[in-house]
Amino acid sequence: MGFDLTPPNSTRSRIFAAYAAARSSYEPVGINVGELAHECDRYLWYSFRRVSAPEKIEGRKLRIFDTGDIEEQRILDDLRAVGCTIKDEQSRVRLVGGHVRGKIDAQALGVPEAPKTIHIVECKSSNEKGFKELAAKGVRLAKPLHFGQCQIYMHGCGLSRAIYVCVNKNDDDIYVERVAYDAEFCLRLLARAERIIRADDPPGRISDKPSVPPCLWCRHKAVCHEGAWPRRNCRTCLHSTPVLTSENACWDCAKHHKPLTLDEQAAGCRQANAPSAQAAAIYAVGGKETQLPNNDLSGSDPREHQERRFRENSP
Ligand code: SF4
Repeated sequence: MGFDLTPPNSTRSRIFAAYAAARSSYEPVGINVGELAHECDRYLWYSFRRVSAPEKIEGRKLRIFDTGDIEEQRILDDLRAVGCTIKDEQSRVRLVGGHVRGKIDAQALGVPEAPKTIHIVECKSSNEKGFKELAAKGVRLAKPLHFGQCQIYMHGCGLSRAIYVCVNKNDDDIYVERVAYDAEFCLRLLARAERIIRADDPPGRISDKPSVPPCLWCRHKAVCHEGAWPRRNCRTCLHSTPVLTSENACWDCAKHHKPLTLDEQAAGCRQANAPSAQAAAIYAVGGKETQLPNNDLSGSDPREHQERRFRENSP
């Protein structure tokens, strides 16, 4: 991609700036259903633990998201036009203690191929290359994240079919596939999610080659491969534990003996008082005054422990 030489006050840059200004920064509460089938366990663990800074999404990309929302409404209208009844738009799915979460696009009754079966509706758009691959291989092989989404939404809503509709951004062609519920796939995916959520240490890397996909594009590459510091927040502290006994994505703090709100999780109890790298290391392993387990940090440099905690367990 070439340099962007657009003057900073031009109409174009102001439009994109307006998109960026309209969106407050947002971090997912848990693991998004749309990412659950990600190929790297460690990626999901790092995301869940908020190890890296939240992605800064530029205005142009936000406009693409906006286009996706408009396309979704068009697809739902298209389904209505062929006789479907659409309901439950944007209804929530919460699984694994609420730590796995997402919103379905809708449910549809009256799909021409099976008019009496309620379907999960999953609306997508794709560039020409992705669309051709989808048409050749089907959603399971061509778009594994989307396939995982369809499956988990069927599981969460107790339905046995999904209708996956993808529009070609180039020529408005439409790919439609009915997806059957695969119970074994879902149970495996959810068991994996629970293992990742419960894990105190990062799972192994999918690859030791940071210059090759998927690591090349991964937003956690700096922490995973390049020695960057994890962020300081409650989820990178050894005292915090995700709770799986409710459906509300709760976290508990064993140091202060209390549940943690989302704001508290983001702030962390020692963040304001831990400006140095050394203090950051202490913070990230749980606090200086902490009674440390015998086999854990006693007598060791906290930074070393943190290094172990966030980067070990490579394959
Ligand atoms: S950099 Fe690679 S191994 Fe590390 S979390 Fe990302 S995808 Fe996984």
